[in-house]
Amino acid sequence: MALKTGAQYIEEMKKMRPNVYKWGELIRDVTTHPATKAHIANVAMWYDNSFDPEKEELYTTTSYLTGKKAHRWNTLMTCADDVLGNANMKRDGYRMCGSCMGPVCAGWTVINALWGVTWDMDKALGTDYHERLKKFAMFAEENALALSGALTDAKGNRALKPGQQDNSDMYLHVKEVREDGIVIRGYKNQICGVAGSQYIMVIPTTSMSEGEEAFAVAAAVPRDAEGITVVETRRPSDTRTEAEGWDGIKSGTTQAFVIFDDVFVPNERVFMNGEVKYAGACVGNFTAIYRAAIGACVAGQGDVMIGAAIGMARANGLTQKPFQDKLTQMAVNNETTYGLGIGAMYMGKQHPSGAFYPNPLLAHVNKVHVATLPYNTKVLAQEISGGITETGCMPSYQDMMSPVYGKQLIESLRAGVGGEDRIRMARLVEWLTIGGGVPGCMHGGGSPDTAKMVVKGATRWDDYVDYARSLAKVEAPLKEEKKKK
Ligand SMILES: Cc1cc2nc3c(=O)[nH]c(=O)nc-3n(C[C@H](O)[C@H](O)[C@H](O)COP(=O)(O)OP(=O)(O)OC[C@H]3O[C@@H](n4cnc5c(N)ncnc54)[C@H](O)[C@@H]3O)c2cc1C
Repeated sequence: MALKTGAQYIEEMKKMRPNVYKWGELIRDVTTHPATKAHIANVAMWYDNSFDPEKEELYTTTSYLTGKKAHRWNTLMTCADDVLGNANMKRDGYRMCGSCMGPVCAGWTVINALWGVTWDMDKALGTDYHERLKKFAMFAEENALALSGALTDAKGNRALKPGQQDNSDMYLHVKEVREDGIVIRGYKNQICGVAGSQYIMVIPTTSMSEGEEAFAVAAAVPRDAEGITVVETRRPSDTRTEAEGWDGIKSGTTQAFVIFDDVFVPNERVFMNGEVKYAGACVGNFTAIYRAAIGACVAGQGDVMIGAAIGMARANGLTQKPFQDKLTQMAVNNETTYGLGIGAMYMGKQHPSGAFYPNPLLAHVNKVHVATLPYNTKVLAQEISGGITETGCMPSYQDMMSPVYGKQLIESLRAGVGGEDRIRMARLVEWLTIGGGVPGCMHGGGSPDTAKMVVKGATRWDDYVDYARSLAKVEAPLKEEKKKK
């Protein structure tokens, strides 16, 4: 198949075993339930974009494995241009959907991250993980699968390592090794787009040490496998049911807590089992790709925020001119994260396995900006747009529809355009700036503090002191004594 339409994707989602819950209820059909259907429709739009002559170049590429045309999210990235293709597709996707789409992002990134790790393991340890991964990647491409990616474990007490927790389920782990596979259990929390995915790609969330072999596990697991329970989280978009009749966007992405309760994974879908030394590289490769590309994600949403802010100014009866400085700053913010991500890509390297990894230092610097600049863009969007874009400052849709006072409310909101259009644009600004549309700028893809740790580790501080000493002609070495542990 290799390429699938949105309608085919939706048909396949309907056939999955219902195991997604929200508000205490089992969701029988994720494609029609109000909590998940907008997300599924957005992912379907990405599939359909692959057939749009104007967008196919963004959403498809030539497969490294088969030489055939495939959805971009089912392919291996082997050069900087491929990662740029990833970034450009996401920027476009954000412009279309306003938010992120986990099933066409995170699982794909996991496969690319594992590509180099499994290759290294096979070379050093004589395992066959890379061959298994290759077969799964071919299967994912051939079936045009939507894949979520689960790194984040529940983690329990953050001061303790996985092996030190009082409940081993705080980190996903191998409970039992059988001849034909493994049984895994534990909690993966805050995973994006699980409801819209067909497989969950799991890898460790952190590096592991000797004694933590059970937690060093990577695998591909069907989202509806026996033993998996998916609980959708509560997002601000929950308040946006069909009742908010004029909202163009009804929800953003979906997020979930995933409970693995003794889930059997056959050997051919296991890509790491106990190799603690390689757990850290899974996260390292993942974040290098993800944090280079996420600059484009937030820029895509920033593009919509600029449009919505100008739209509000005009709907308020004003022009763009009085706000130009703020709008220009918003554009600077967008292009900073997009451009820095591109820098990380072109300073990256190809791994001997064929996978390409962006430069970690620049990718992590980008993550720090992604955790700050989009929030500034949101503040500016609200400032330009006025008070009705802040949560709680506009009557509900039901009140607007009141036969008693509805017409007066709508008339009171008329400015540069009719009241209804002004309300629609205001609701979009609210959703983008403080609603369900806020992407994981702060913690999505890991916290900025962890990114700063990489920046600290990768920066050559003492070399910089030497540059300064040389220019200042200081003879003293100005070195710090290393403290004995
Ligand atoms: C919108 C969104 C989408 C996401 N999508 C996915 C996804 O698709 N897949 C996935 O796997 N995950 C996903 N995540 C989860 C994300 O990766 C985590 O939120 C992130 O890694 C931070 O983990 P945490 O939320 O548990 O925060 P915590 O680990 O509790 O961190 C909170 C703060 O404490 C600091 N901290 C933590 N431990 C220590 C320590 N030992 N010492 C000092 N400081 C510490 C952190 O740096 C941070 O500043 C998503 C998150 C969001 C918000």
